[in-house]
Amino acid sequence: MLNVIGYSAAGPHDKLKPHRFTCEDPRAIDVQIEVMYCGVCHSDIHQVKNEWSNTVYPCMPGHEVVGRVAAIGSGVTRHKVGDIVGVGCMIDSCRACEACLAGEQNYCIGPNSWLATYNGPMVPAAKAPNGRNSYERDNTFGGYATAIVVKEDFVLKIPHNLAPEKAAPILCAGVTTYSPFKHWGVKPGDHVGIIGYGGLGNMAAKIAKALGATVTVFTTSADKRSLAEAAGAERAILENDEKTLASLAGTFDFILSTVPTKHDVNPFVALLKRDRTLVIVGALEVMEPTNNMPVAFKRRSIAGSLIGSIAETQEVLDFCAEHDVTPDIEIIPIDRINEAYERVEQGDVRFRYVIDMGSLRTASE
Ligand code: ZN
Ligand code: ZN
Repeated sequence: MLNVIGYSAAGPHDKLKPHRFTCEDPRAIDVQIEVMYCGVCHSDIHQVKNEWSNTVYPCMPGHEVVGRVAAIGSGVTRHKVGDIVGVGCMIDSCRACEACLAGEQNYCIGPNSWLATYNGPMVPAAKAPNGRNSYERDNTFGGYATAIVVKEDFVLKIPHNLAPEKAAPILCAGVTTYSPFKHWGVKPGDHVGIIGYGGLGNMAAKIAKALGATVTVFTTSADKRSLAEAAGAERAILENDEKTLASLAGTFDFILSTVPTKHDVNPFVALLKRDRTLVIVGALEVMEPTNNMPVAFKRRSIAGSLIGSIAETQEVLDFCAEHDVTPDIEIIPIDRINEAYERVEQGDVRFRYVIDMGSLRTASE
């Protein structure tokens, strides 16, 4: 058995606190990872606070995990001890459904859907057909911990020329934005709009630019405009700047909304060219109603997209290494995590927080 220490919340109104637990040693196909860094995703906060009504407590978040392979099972061939590796949002799926066979584990339609890196399967226990919420586990603990054990084919390789702390946010924020760019065929010369400029928006702007697109960022914060432009956006516009918005009507090939909560996409639909798509990746909830008039008159689409597959996650890591695309981050020790959550919720964050898990190891010694 492996002794692990992490940070978890006991309930929806509780702060994250140190939590010791034991984890099984790696089986034949498992990789044991000593966690070095873990990104802080807005989903972590939604989940800790039970805002999607499916949280299993104690809840130990973290799905932007980068670390060093500490041990491997006897059957592991893809990774070796000492490798720098990553774990994103998923650690298993049914492996048998149409989506899994197509390599799109993130759309698994197996009885329990995919197994999330933390908080167990994507189906609440009460709805799981076997009455248990698991392929193997009722709950899972994520990367806010000193170690994690994951099946080898859900472990990603971190390219050598990508700093481990900067690779962490690519595992969720990176692939969540890269996957729709690829699916909807964003290409050099396209005009891409990014709504919202937090962790997802920052990655989206940089990846779209590296794909050869011209990027316009829409934000509600005046001081984020210069940050977006410094990150490679051609321009950043205030969302309430109706005059500039009107001047851009019908000029976008693709628009991605990264806003993590309910919002109104109507002002942006008119900015799309005919037959183009606005994709929502930030919010997983009932949105403001949309007016179908501007949608129908230009045969536009409003769509959604959920993270990305394991293959796409490896692809975006390799893409970011090749094109020198890295998120803007601020590294924090684990004991600042509750303060970090407050700042993320206030929209007061200029960079993605990445937890230095060495701070947890040192504190627990
Ligand atoms: Zn995430
Ligand atoms: Zn499946």
